[in-house]
Amino acid sequence: MQLIDTHVHINFDVFESDLEDIKTRWQQAQVVHLVHSCVEPSEFKSIQALADHFGNLSFAVGLHPLDAQKWTNTTETEILNYAKSDQRVVAIGEMGLDFYKASNHQQQQQVLEAQLRIAHQLQKPIIIHCRDAAQKLKDVLELFWQQTGEVKGVMHCWSGTPEETQWFLDLGFYISFSGVVTFKNAKTIQDSAKIVPNDRLLIETDCPFLAPVPKRGKRNEPANVRHVAEFLAKLRDVPIETLAQQTTDNACQLFNLSLDD
Ligand SMILES: [Zn+2]
Repeated sequence: MQLIDTHVHINFDVFESDLEDIKTRWQQAQVVHLVHSCVEPSEFKSIQALADHFGNLSFAVGLHPLDAQKWTNTTETEILNYAKSDQRVVAIGEMGLDFYKASNHQQQQQVLEAQLRIAHQLQKPIIIHCRDAAQKLKDVLELFWQQTGEVKGVMHCWSGTPEETQWFLDLGFYISFSGVVTFKNAKTIQDSAKIVPNDRLLIETDCPFLAPVPKRGKRNEPANVRHVAEFLAKLRDVPIETLAQQTTDNACQLFNLSLDD
């Protein structure tokens, strides 16, 4: 069995002291590849160093909506240069809209649109962060698809309703579930996870955040993507091996990964 954790932040300080142990545990959990997300371009060097060190790690470069105020007139060039200079850059992001924690809606939208243009230009998939903003995001993406063209991507750490899930499936997106789907009160998210077609489903930890049951409340780490996979397999009534194969194939397809096994 092979699993891919499609969204990690192991460059954060909380992992500094025991990364080798964390690697041992993800290997034991049969996690064969990580896709590292990026909150802001200043992280690029540290993420690149992790990819040098660990090998089976691809990554994104982009600016998170909650850091939208950090966009400057050099950010676009920075993202473009990083993405072009390192073949391990497999996506642009994370980008998106977060109306739950911030009210700079206009600024977030501008920064999102700028990154959509970069991804379209480079023909790279996007990693979308969306919280309490599904309707606005749908409108922005639909307009972009019409005016500029389609971009492939993933709705990461997805927590939307089945209706919202269908919107983004219709736009061509993959839908990625994190540990949140395992929580007891996550009925709506579980309903969404049931309607995602086999060829659009992805799994992630979003570590260090949001550890799945039975690790809830602890620091999260890539090995725990196994718990997300097991939960989704049960929920969708398929063997864990089948779910692992499907989600790994999907990750390879979206991010153009080739696993060196
Ligand atoms: Zn993230």
